[in-house]
Amino acid sequence: MSDDPTIFEQIVAGEIPARIVYETDTVAAFLDANPLAPGHTLVVPKDAYERLGELPDEIAADVWAAVQELTPRIESAVDADASNVGVNNGSAAGQEVPHVHVHIVPRFEGDGGRPIHAVAG
Ligand code: IMP
Repeated sequence: MSDDPTIFEQIVAGEIPARIVYETDTVAAFLDANPLAPGHTLVVPKDAYERLGELPDEIAADVWAAVQELTPRIESAVDADASNVGVNNGSAAGQEVPHVHVHIVPRFEGDGGRPIHAVAG
């Protein structure tokens, strides 16, 4: 963990405004500030771990439980047909914020977006 708080730690601490949609002792979720689609949500551990491999097992489980719970709720809230769920794990993969975050991106039939396996293509 770095000494400098990440922007997501600052959101969790209430120092930067965000639309928080879910919160437990260990996990928070909020709307992405630059959404790829309506309802684009980020699920984060409250403590800053940069890479997935650094997450303690219990925190990883908490993050995934939140993703599982939130994904259908978000789809329903924005009337989406599906979602892409993914992590940019490291800067070479496009990770800009060094704090693990799972993107939940709602998808709509015919929206023209690409699947995750085509992202780097
Ligand atoms: P990454 O490329 O996987 O690291 O994604 C970082 C995400 O964080 C991007 O989708 C940004 O739009 C989002 N983001 C950056 N700053 C903020 C913020 O202050 N609030 C909410 N989302 C943010």
